[in-house]
Amino acid sequence: MTDDRYHRSEHFINGEFRPAHSNARIELVDPATEEVFGSTAFGDAADVDDAVRAAKAALPAWSALEPKERGDYLRKLADAMEKRIDVIAETVSKENGTPISLSKAMQGMPPANYRYFAGLADAFVPEEHRETMAGDAFIQRMPVGVVGAIVPWNGPQPLIAWKIGPALAAGCTVVVKPAAETSLDAFYFAEAAQEAGFPPGVVNMITGGRETGAKLVEHPDVAKIAFTGSTRAGRQIAEQCGKDFKHVTLELGGKSAGILLDDVVLEDFKPFVMSALTPNTGQTCRALTRILAPRERYDEIVDFIADTMKSTPLGEPSNPSNFYGPLVNKSQYEKVMSYLDLGKSEGAEIVTGGGRPEGFDKGYYVAPTVFKNVTNDMRIAREEIFGPVIVVMPYDSIDEAIEIANDSEYGLGGGVFSPDEDRATDVARRIVSGTVSVNAASCPMDVPFGGIKNSGMGRELGPDALEPYTVTKTIFRTPVASA
Ligand code: NAD
Repeated sequence: MTDDRYHRSEHFINGEFRPAHSNARIELVDPATEEVFGSTAFGDAADVDDAVRAAKAALPAWSALEPKERGDYLRKLADAMEKRIDVIAETVSKENGTPISLSKAMQGMPPANYRYFAGLADAFVPEEHRETMAGDAFIQRMPVGVVGAIVPWNGPQPLIAWKIGPALAAGCTVVVKPAAETSLDAFYFAEAAQEAGFPPGVVNMITGGRETGAKLVEHPDVAKIAFTGSTRAGRQIAEQCGKDFKHVTLELGGKSAGILLDDVVLEDFKPFVMSALTPNTGQTCRALTRILAPRERYDEIVDFIADTMKSTPLGEPSNPSNFYGPLVNKSQYEKVMSYLDLGKSEGAEIVTGGGRPEGFDKGYYVAPTVFKNVTNDMRIAREEIFGPVIVVMPYDSIDEAIEIANDSEYGLGGGVFSPDEDRATDVARRIVSGTVSVNAASCPMDVPFGGIKNSGMGRELGPDALEPYTVTKTIFRTPVASA
């Protein structure tokens, strides 16, 4: 039987849900059952053009509001999102297999994020007077213009919030393009935006796939792209934005190192095996998937991580006691499985996992896997796998651990674990990456987040989050000679 909640044919444009121009559809597949359960419209160039046109028309009035008034809209959006936490959590879980307990926790983030950005709007100073070497100057901070926000499937709502929160606070208008896999939960976001009462055109949402995203990037009236996703897509987007001199921020992939110091207490480290190494069944950009262990404790640490992962509940995402679920889709499942074969052929040894978990005939499940006897030149140690797969490498000195950690094309996360937090922080200072945690898993929203090297450029969150959504204009004047 068709469930209408799961089938949508519109986009959210100019404050209303409008039918898509074409009949092209995205089929939504439940990764736990491999069955199609819903569908959304695959947006085309005409849909994108309508949305950008609406955003462009709304820009002058929206950017002319007092920043605090924009903050008030963001607070209303936070309230409207808060009411929808449960339904969004259930929808995301069905779309991408995020276990429901984690999905609920993740949906708590956007309301808090929108309130945080509302606070930044309240404090936003759109014009500053400076006395210069030759008279007065007025530095205006103007919104960059229409922003295209393109997000992946693994944390769709927080990642939308991280982009459009600061964009709207700064006076930009937005067109959101969720990933095809999570195009259904985006409707609850659009409904929340409608309920918050944004003026028509300030917030727009187009469902679709890669081609839809590319149309948004190419659109001449889009001034900035805020993107989270793969390094491959990020490179294509950066090239296009470079050609057009568009502003762009990119949050991309990672292969982050977690260094356990020689005094680590494994019982204290245990929660981080789940929250820092394999959150969202390993499908988290910042996951610490390359573990560095002191050689004298190597076997003990390998076994501890393997035992912890093996004994952590895996199964149906709708069961709140499960921590691991299926991977998002068939291609991700096949990709992760191919890395398991690759690791064996490279000479690494599987300690636990290594294939489908027992008792699962359906669904894109991969057993949490730990590789040992890994060297940093192996592809399983260098490439982002994006699944519940951990490689553990030994080190003989802190210098060597840091050298291995930094020998990566990526630089998004990193972690150091030790009861001596000052010693761990000194090690963290030497890791070349956008963020490094010390005895912690996730990054708080009031500090900058982002990557370097192939993990991207630009920062989200933190007190300066509005900066990438503004451009400055300088008005300077010299005293009139006759005055
Ligand atoms: P993806 O790059 O294939 O897709 C991400 C989004 O971009 C989707 O909405 C997609 O439709 C769109 N897209 C893809 N190619 C495009 C193009 N050429 N032009 C415009 N839009 C395009 O990534 P994915 O498979 O959806 O997500 C997984 C990847 O995202 C992983 O590599 C992961 O590390 C990364 N990620 C990074 C962060 C971070 O904050 N750094 C967070 C989450 C995920």
